Amino acid sequence: MEAPLQGQAPAGSQTITLMKIGHYQIGNTLGAGTFGKVKYGEHILTGTKVAIKILNRKTIKNLDMVSKIKREITNLKLFRHPHIIKLYQVISTPTDIFMVMEYASGGELFDYIKQKSKLKESEARRFFQQIISGVDYCHRHMVVHRDLKPENLLLDHNLHVKIADFGLSNIMVDGEFLRTSCGSPNYAAPEVISGKLYAGPEVDVWSCGIILYALLCGTLPFDDEHVPTLFRKIKSGVFQIPDYLNQSVVRLLLHMLMVDPMKRATIEDIKKHEWFQKDLPAYLFPPPYDHDNSVIDQEAVTEVCEKFQVDSAEVQSAILSEDQHNQLKIAYNLIVDNKRFADANAMYSISAFYSGASPPPALPTPAFSPSDSSPSPFKPHPERIAPHLGIGKIHPDLRASLRERALSGDRGMPKGTPGKRAKWHLGIRSQSKPLDIMSEVYKAMKVLGFEWKVVNPFHVRVRRKNPITGGCVQMALQLYQVDYRSHLLDFKIICNEATEVPQVEKKGLEDEEARPTSHHVMEFFEMCAALITELAR
Ligand code: ATP
Ligand code: MG
Repeated sequence: MEAPLQGQAPAGSQTITLMKIGHYQIGNTLGAGTFGKVKYGEHILTGTKVAIKILNRKTIKNLDMVSKIKREITNLKLFRHPHIIKLYQVISTPTDIFMVMEYASGGELFDYIKQKSKLKESEARRFFQQIISGVDYCHRHMVVHRDLKPENLLLDHNLHVKIADFGLSNIMVDGEFLRTSCGSPNYAAPEVISGKLYAGPEVDVWSCGIILYALLCGTLPFDDEHVPTLFRKIKSGVFQIPDYLNQSVVRLLLHMLMVDPMKRATIEDIKKHEWFQKDLPAYLFPPPYDHDNSVIDQEAVTEVCEKFQVDSAEVQSAILSEDQHNQLKIAYNLIVDNKRFADANAMYSISAFYSGASPPPALPTPAFSPSDSSPSPFKPHPERIAPHLGIGKIHPDLRASLRERALSGDRGMPKGTPGKRAKWHLGIRSQSKPLDIMSEVYKAMKVLGFEWKVVNPFHVRVRRKNPITGGCVQMALQLYQVDYRSHLLDFKIICNEATEVPQVEKKGLEDEEARPTSHHVMEFFEMCAALITELAR
């Protein structure tokens, strides 16, 4: 979507010549919503593209920046999720409030569906998984969207979903918001159209159910031009199920579109559902950040103090309080949780892996990465050896090899103190079946002229002769299970006799391995690079 810059004034604003706000040049109107327009903008110094939502204070007379609202907005700026539009900055003037947000260049998701009339099941699932991941993240941080609808589901240039307006409903006065936002009630839950003011996470589940239906069928489950008839249909909860829908997804839809909010699926139910689980990318639901909850993360406390201009005693007491809606507590939890997503981001790129329940270390950008077949919302992730293979079951040999390695205290299964465990693991992550991964590995080794010895079907020792020196570099390849559906092919250097460290030195290292020379490390990396390149072909 190209949005050239043009100076325009926001609707209702007194300022006629408004071209800039803060460090942003304001451009064309991207769209108009209930509370004002959304304009394209560019950061003057860096050229970063943004979308600027202009909320006119007269239109939202209740939106005064009292401290409670200010805190909520400060928190919204902390929301960091690959499928949620980021709020960068809020600029307040006497007439307007400018919300500077991440710009999604791919237009609205529903224009994309319209073009295709309906999506293939796998594509619908991919979008739906991204939406649920974003919704889950916000619910965990006490924000309910309450207005999930096509205009708020945008696409970026990689066709990844970006949910807009999360948290906005929280800064509107409930009654006002619900009344004004019912212009297009097709996505609103029965209890919302019945006028109940309280709207918890279950209303988002309903809207997600409507969205899922629209993704799969290209139509709406409840539709009628006559609004009272539409309301009747929504309240009845009766909708048509086309024959082409898979029975598994039908069960999910029926559960999400239960009229009784108490019986409706929860986000947890959706996450566990077999249809949802298929081909679920690991980064969407990273494992809990493994820090001891009884120990307060001081770094996070300092960040909250800076953002809210409060002292650390106030933050500490907020963290310990039972009030889950305390904005300082939410901010602290967000900062801690963001580390989890940052780790998932890093884990999603090739390179290192830290298994088990321990926190992964911060990972570097890979030194080499073959081309990627399925773009991730973070960085390219080259770990898909053979895309589109289903979820792999753990082969008994693989399980044995995992146990063996865990028991032997081998470095792939870290145990003991975190200090000792913090090692890099070079490898490739894949969601293919373990036997398929290994079969690709054997083929690649054959092409490359490597020699190998099979320790077990998921563990091989490999060597390559250096044609010039005649020497040999050895490495071990071992497949690990990362989680229920993805595996890591770990590359490990093996030191031969010539590179063994002297016995005296080795004693001091206790159970650590012999240190390879830099020459061996280089040759090892060359082997890895050759193998990864071959696997990515
Ligand atoms: P509401 O006022 O109830 O939120 P709405 O979502 O239709 O309704 P806006 O949020 O004001 O209204 O957005 C208007 C339009 O601007 C959207 O439909 C979308 O096309 C565009 N838009 C909004 N945010 C962005 C963004 N971050 N990047 C690109 N386009 C955007
Ligand atoms: Mg919107």
